Amino acid sequence: MKREGQIKVDSENLFPIIKKWLYSDKDIFVRELVANACDAVKKYQSLCLIGEMQDDGVKPRIDVILDKDNKTLTFSDNGIGMTDEEVEKYITQIAFSGAQEFLEKYKDKTDADAGIIGHFGLGFYSAYMVSDTVEIETLSCRKDAAPVHWESDGSHTYEISDGNRTQKGTSVILHISEDGTEFLDEYKLREVLRKYCKFMPYEIFFTVAGTEKKEDKEEKPLNNTTPLWLKAPKDCTTEEYEDFYRETFADLNMPLFWIHLNVDYPFRLKGILYFPKQTDKLQVMPGEIKLFSNQVYIADNIKEVVPEFLMLLKGVIDCPDLPLNVSRSFLQNDGEVAKISKHITKKVADKLTSVFKNERKSYESYWDDISPFIKFGCIKDEKFYERVKDIMLYKTINEEYKTFAELPKQGDKVYYVSSMDVQAQYVKMFKDNGLDAVILEHNIDTHFVSFLEYKETDTKFVRIDSEIGDALKSDTSETVENNDEIIKIFKDALSMEKLTVQAQSLKTADTPAIITINEYERRMNDINKIYGSMFGAAAPVSETLIINTQNSIVKKLPSLDSEKQTLLCKHIYDLAVISQRKLTADELDGFIERSVQVLGFIG
Ligand code: ADP
Repeated sequence: MKREGQIKVDSENLFPIIKKWLYSDKDIFVRELVANACDAVKKYQSLCLIGEMQDDGVKPRIDVILDKDNKTLTFSDNGIGMTDEEVEKYITQIAFSGAQEFLEKYKDKTDADAGIIGHFGLGFYSAYMVSDTVEIETLSCRKDAAPVHWESDGSHTYEISDGNRTQKGTSVILHISEDGTEFLDEYKLREVLRKYCKFMPYEIFFTVAGTEKKEDKEEKPLNNTTPLWLKAPKDCTTEEYEDFYRETFADLNMPLFWIHLNVDYPFRLKGILYFPKQTDKLQVMPGEIKLFSNQVYIADNIKEVVPEFLMLLKGVIDCPDLPLNVSRSFLQNDGEVAKISKHITKKVADKLTSVFKNERKSYESYWDDISPFIKFGCIKDEKFYERVKDIMLYKTINEEYKTFAELPKQGDKVYYVSSMDVQAQYVKMFKDNGLDAVILEHNIDTHFVSFLEYKETDTKFVRIDSEIGDALKSDTSETVENNDEIIKIFKDALSMEKLTVQAQSLKTADTPAIITINEYERRMNDINKIYGSMFGAAAPVSETLIINTQNSIVKKLPSLDSEKQTLLCKHIYDLAVISQRKLTADELDGFIERSVQVLGFIG
C-alpha cells in the first residue's frame, strides 16, 4: 500500500506562522509529543479497563531517543497506536485543522500574548517548529491491525504506506531542521524533558543512540510518575513533603510549613503550597508556583489562576479542569478560574488559622518569616485580611508576640519601631519607663501601617521617634517662664530657623534632649523613597528638638556664660541628632571639634 494525499488547509503558510508564533517557546514540542504518548498509553489502559481489550501485560513506557548522527529525535510509546484510517483522520484532518483553527484565532493578537499562547497546545504539529520532515510508525492495538507509516515534510502533502512496527504503539520520528539543532544536544534535551515531563504519569526513558548501555545498571526513568500532590494528605509524611520540596525547587532551606490542597468539587484541584524560609529579612523574595494539568507542566506563576500574593510561596498546582488551551485574557474573565483562585486563598487562610490555634508557639517562631507574605496578601486582597486579621501577630520591643487586640496602646496610639538600631535611644527610653512598642521593620510595613489605619480607624500608628507620649512626660512640670528661657537659649545658640524647639520635663533625666520628626511628613517621604520621585522631590521633614528640663546639664544652662551656652546647646543638639540619624560630614566635623572643647571643660 502506498498513497499520497493533500492536507486540507486554507492558509498557504501555516508553518511559517507556527514558527513565528512559538519562536520563543520552541521547546514545547517536547511536551506536546510526550503528552500525546502518555494519552496513547492511557487510552489503551482505558480500553482494557472497560473490557474492550485484553491487557498484554507489557509495562507502559515512553522512550525519547536522540540520534545525533542521523539528526533524528524519536518519541515512542507502547500505547493505543493508530490504524490506517485513524492516522488519516487524526493526524491529517483533525490535528491539522486544530492547529489551523488555533492560528486563525490568534494570529491577529499582539506579540505580548505569544508567550502564553505558546504554552497551550498546538499538539502534534508543533513538531514542525524544529523539523523538516516528520515520520510516524504506528501499530494499532486492535486485533489484526497492520502497521502504518506516515510522512510529511510539512508542505501540503503527505504519504501513507505500509509500516514496519511490530509492537503496538506509535513512534514519531523528527528529522531535525536547521532551526532545531539545539535539540540535538543531549544536555539541552534532558533539561527540557525535566522541565515539562518531570511528573508525567508514565515512565519516560531518555537514550542517546550509540551510547553503550551498562548491563548491570538499572534503567531509570527521568520522571516521577506519582508526584506527592496526588497522594492523600493524611498518608504523606513530613519527610516526604520536605524531599518533594527539595527535589522540585532546589532550595537548600527547608520550608516552614505547607498546605496540601485536595479538591474534587466544584472543580478538581490538587497541589502543595510551601511557605519558604525568607533569607532576606527586609525584602520579599519571589516564589514559584508551577501549574500542571494532569501532571503535564504548563507554566510558572500564572497570575490568573493563583492570586498574586501567593506567588511568594513555592508550590505545585495541578488543575485538570482549567481551559488551558485558551488565551490569557479568557482566563482573566472566566468565572471558574476566579473560583479556583478564591478557593486557594481561603485554604491558605484556614491553614494559618489552624496553626495559630493549635500550635501557637511554633506559629510565633516562624511569624517573622511569614509575616511579610501575609501583610502583602492583606494589602492585595481585603477579603484575605478579613480572614486573617485576628491571627496576625505583632512583635514587641519586649520580644513578645501580640495580636491586634492585645497591642500595647497609649490612648488610641500604638508606638512602633522601624529600625531597632537607628531608634535604639528611643527604645531604651521606652523600656526604662516600662513602655512597650511594636517592631515593624520590614519594607512592606511602610504600606502595611497605612493599610491598617485605613481598616482599623480607632487606632493610630506613630513611630517611636515622632512624638513624646504622655507616658514619658514627668508629672512635675517646670514653670513656664523657666521653659521659655531655656528655649530662647537654644534658639539663639543654634540659630536654626526651621527647627521647632520645645522644653518638656521627661521621666528619664539622663537624656538632655531628643528630636522628634513629624509622622505624616516622614511617611510621605518614605513612600517617595519607594516610588522614586513620582510625587516630586522628597520634602524636608520637620524636626522638633525637645529639651528635657529634668536633665542636670539643661538645668545648669541659664547660669553659664553665653559662650559655654552656645557650645553646650550645639553639642546637645548633635547628641539628639545622633540617636536619630547619621550626622552629615559637616555636622560630624563640628561635633568632633566641639567634643574636644567640651572635654577641655575638665581642665
Ligand atoms: P490533541 O492531542 O490535542 O488531540 P494532537 O495534534 O497532539 O492534538 O494530536 C491529534 C490526535 O492524533 C490525537 O488526538 C490522537 O488521536 C492522535 N495521536 C497523536 N499522537 C499519538 C500517539 N502517540 N499515539 C496515538 N495517537 C496519537
